[in-house]
Amino acid sequence: MKKENQDDKYAECRACKQRMTPGNGCLVSHIRHGDSYYSRIKAGDKDDYFPEMTEKHRCHDCGVGKGDYHHIGCTQDRCPICRGQFFLCDCRMDAYRIGCSEYVSE
Ligand SMILES: [Zn+2]
Ligand SMILES: [Zn+2]
Ligand SMILES: [Zn+2]
Repeated sequence: MKKENQDDKYAECRACKQRMTPGNGCLVSHIRHGDSYYSRIKAGDKDDYFPEMTEKHRCHDCGVGKGDYHHIGCTQDRCPICRGQFFLCDCRMDAYRIGCSEYVSE
């Protein structure tokens, strides 16, 4: 099997442009909303949907490990602004309108 085919199994994160391969955390650390920047919630954080996460776990949607940022578009990614699903909330729509270049990487 060619390597591209292997990679095609995993969607590309539209913000950090990495494939969502298991254990590969998102590079985007902040989200812009209006004039403010918000720190994203990491997988396994007390504010994450899965605070009981251990080193052995992976996000079942985007595959990141404990302490990594979920990829943009992951259904388990919690919005740091409204605490809803970032996948669905209006804050995300705002961020998308601004464009991916406005996401901030460390
Ligand atoms: Zn990403
Ligand atoms: Zn995730
Ligand atoms: Zn939100």
